[in-house]
Amino acid sequence: MSFFSKLFSGKTLMATGVFLPLLTGFCKKGTAQNLQCIRTAKEYKVSVKTSYSNKLQDIQKLLPALVLDLKYNRSDNFTHVNLYRKATTTYLRMPAALALQKATETLKEKGYSFKIFDAYRPYSVTRKMWELIGDERYVANPKNGSNHNKGLAIDLTIIQQDGRELDMGTAFDNFSDTAHHDFTKLPATVLENRKLLRTLMEQNGFRALETEWWHYSFSTTENFQVMDLSFKTLKKLNR
Ligand SMILES: [Zn+2]
Repeated sequence: MSFFSKLFSGKTLMATGVFLPLLTGFCKKGTAQNLQCIRTAKEYKVSVKTSYSNKLQDIQKLLPALVLDLKYNRSDNFTHVNLYRKATTTYLRMPAALALQKATETLKEKGYSFKIFDAYRPYSVTRKMWELIGDERYVANPKNGSNHNKGLAIDLTIIQQDGRELDMGTAFDNFSDTAHHDFTKLPATVLENRKLLRTLMEQNGFRALETEWWHYSFSTTENFQVMDLSFKTLKKLNR
């Protein structure tokens, strides 16, 4: 039994303490009164102690063969702002990270790999995106937080062994109808590539988003909290 299986086979995963309203504070006073965030290293450590599912797993450490192309770690993204600064890896909550690991293994058998554009996103970055764009069609409204803020969502595509991306019909963060799953006026190979990604992710517990072919959220009945830990803090915590 592996280290992770042991952790997930016992009471750890069954712990109902994933939601820790009394131990954490408001994400931002006065703007999202009901939304609570894990904001400090101390709060994070308590949450992980309560349930190992709360751990934000470093994806590069878990899956070093994957290509990271973090779009918000530079300014050539749709906001034109470097929102992550110096992030060198990305993170997912433990159950989502393990599901991605399974999907990666299946994909490898087909001769492909993943390229990741984004996963965990600090809550303050979602607020910043809202300030910059302010349109719910393109960015999450910070009043609710997003699955990216919970470390449960991932933006990704499939690459060949030589690193070239499979043709998905549009680039990442293309907000036109062409990026929607129900847009079928595309070459057969594009539809097949999208289907490969969707099938693989859904088989491993992720849900597609109809308007973005690259976005998948891990389905879980556990009530995970929004987090506002910086990449710098996470790097220190994961040392
Ligand atoms: Zn996304």
